[in-house]
Amino acid sequence: MPRRPRVARGEDRAIRAVVPSPLQLDGAAQRVRDEARALGLSGWARSADDGGLAVHAEGTPTAIDALIAFIAEGVAHGGAAGVEIEEVPLEGHEQFALRGVSAGAFVVKEHAASTHHFDMRLEVAGVMRSWALPKGPSLDPAVKRLAVEVPDHSIEQNGFEGPTGEGGVVLWDRGLYEQGGRVAWPEALSRGHAVFVLHGEKLRGGFALQRTRPGAKPQWLLVKRRDEQARPASDVVAEQPASVLSGRTLEQVLAAARRRDPAAPGAAPDRP
Ligand code: MN
Repeated sequence: MPRRPRVARGEDRAIRAVVPSPLQLDGAAQRVRDEARALGLSGWARSADDGGLAVHAEGTPTAIDALIAFIAEGVAHGGAAGVEIEEVPLEGHEQFALRGVSAGAFVVKEHAASTHHFDMRLEVAGVMRSWALPKGPSLDPAVKRLAVEVPDHSIEQNGFEGPTGEGGVVLWDRGLYEQGGRVAWPEALSRGHAVFVLHGEKLRGGFALQRTRPGAKPQWLLVKRRDEQARPASDVVAEQPASVLSGRTLEQVLAAARRRDPAAPGAAPDRP
């Protein structure tokens, strides 16, 4: 059963804390997470690229004060003057998460079968959760792309590329992803609104999957979040068609299969 969403109470407050890099020790984000969870707080902690630490915490004033003291003494070791604390609006987080750590692998395949489509897959609990995207992903936040949920695939298939019985597949993008949003991962997927950050070769930054139609073949919309990696008015599928594995396009894979076997199925050479 999904946990009941935490309901913010009237007196709750939220802070952002930043600890500059010279004061931080290894594992600080994990220790802040553990302390925040013990205090009943929600939010996140992230180790910054420069080694510093950033924290968003929300909950009761007493617990917030206790976490501030923990950060000043337990993380900054009394160097509290170097810790920046800012009161910020409540965001409604339902968990205290560790940010900036991988949740698993992701791949995007371009697939010619009975239809031409893209397959986006996210590693969740030892399998690849999968969505078929008729038009593929987009880096334009104004574009919503249909994503039809399909059965899980095995992780072992992630690296496959080449001709198949009914066409062919190329590995269009790959990398790691991290959870985002305010809801625990992967519970966010079962609730039908999942935010995640892709660290791929073509797809980078925050994305949201919103389930719009439940049922036997649930339909979702994939949308790029507005961040530094967003590319308004771009068409990444058209601009970067080559496989990240081989550099080949799907057309080249299909053409090579046809040369070996002229009767092989696949898209016609002049497919638009
Ligand atoms: Mn497919």
